[in-house]
Amino acid sequence: MSLVPLGDAQRRVLAQCRPLRPVAIPLADALGCVTSVDVVAAEDVPPFANSAVDGFAVRAADVAGAPVTLPVVGTIPAGAPPEPPVGPGQAVRILTGAPLPPGADAVVMVEDTDAWDGRSGREAQGVVADVEIEIRTPVAAGANVRAAGDDIASGQAVFGAGTVLGPGHLGVLASIGMRRVPVYPRARVGVLSTGDELVDGPEPLRPGQIRDSNRRTLLALVAEANAEPVDLGHARDDEGAVRQALTAGIDRCDAVLTSGGVSVGDFDYVKVVLDELSGGTFAWRQVAIRPAKPLAFGVVQGTPVFGLPGNPVSSMVSFELFARPALRTMMGHGDAGRPRAPAVADEPILRRPDGKLHLARVRARWGDDGRIHVQPLAGQSSHHLHAMAGANALALVPDGDGIPAGGEVETMLLAYPVA
Ligand code: AMP
Ligand code: MG
Repeated sequence: MSLVPLGDAQRRVLAQCRPLRPVAIPLADALGCVTSVDVVAAEDVPPFANSAVDGFAVRAADVAGAPVTLPVVGTIPAGAPPEPPVGPGQAVRILTGAPLPPGADAVVMVEDTDAWDGRSGREAQGVVADVEIEIRTPVAAGANVRAAGDDIASGQAVFGAGTVLGPGHLGVLASIGMRRVPVYPRARVGVLSTGDELVDGPEPLRPGQIRDSNRRTLLALVAEANAEPVDLGHARDDEGAVRQALTAGIDRCDAVLTSGGVSVGDFDYVKVVLDELSGGTFAWRQVAIRPAKPLAFGVVQGTPVFGLPGNPVSSMVSFELFARPALRTMMGHGDAGRPRAPAVADEPILRRPDGKLHLARVRARWGDDGRIHVQPLAGQSSHHLHAMAGANALALVPDGDGIPAGGEVETMLLAYPVA
């Protein structure tokens, strides 16, 4: 079987994955989701003109000749109605966020005033009614006032369709009173392990058995991609068991990931069942990469199914290269891939020519020169899950003899580059 270049294999997968039907979900669940339409504000933020500081609401014209002393005719805390009004030659004590009373057009910061007890003539202690305030400096009309709609105006499109909702976006949506938000839903992604050698529980291993690690990893990768993981358990190398588990998963989920059973020479029940369920449209490819050469992909009853390799590192790399971009596309992300950047190899990343692109597990960090630097991790075989766990990037090492120390290599960032 000839090897398919990585880009071709990725394009073929993405071409078969469509965004899910948008839904309105509760704001509390929307972190990381993508808006499906423009979001329009139905309210002004702030909803009323209010004070940006603790101080005194005044008429700017009254304090133009500061220093001036004005009688304080009331106090307005945050949450109170805008009373009393400020008449000519008067001041009202106002706290941050409190509504500006009628008549006032500016606020003097408390730091620019001196409070005097009008009756005793002594400096006032704390909050007292019926005092006079000395305004030391003039203020312009509008000073320290946050106008209604100054942040967001009612009728304004606050976010366009396709916005990835971060914490600040959720705050904006809360500020305009939205309870539900129109987004592409999280894909429900089933994860199924296959293999007679796999053990789930804590019991001692019998000869030939290993513990199932892929399912834990893949469920976590699904969650990290902001999709919804669905644990489909573990199927033995048995046609009936694989068919039952896959059929149930395809029924329940928007996408399904299996691991194991797709390399040459396997007990190929995953292949038999997926070929049968897809009506023969499933594609079995060998991609020109290392690790993660075998890739099985097809759409069964509208549900994309990824047959990921069994080796733990291969299943993770295959997820990153094929499944993650597909799931993110289904969830409305325009740019579905991990970020890529050129990096400096601090040590040689050696390899042999074999016609494949190698994805070396590396540790990436920002250097003092402002560039990303990478170091290959010890343990570059497809069963070296421990090294993969410590990697925060994959270096894309082209066919050849590798990258010399100080050479540049394209890098796919899996996490923020810190050593
Ligand atoms: P396979 O593709 O089924 O031949 O599996 C390739 C290698 O990955 C074998 O060494 C398997 O034992 C191992 N493997 C398969 N599935 C898992 C799993 N869920 N967790 C850990 N290792 C696995
Ligand atoms: Mg197997």
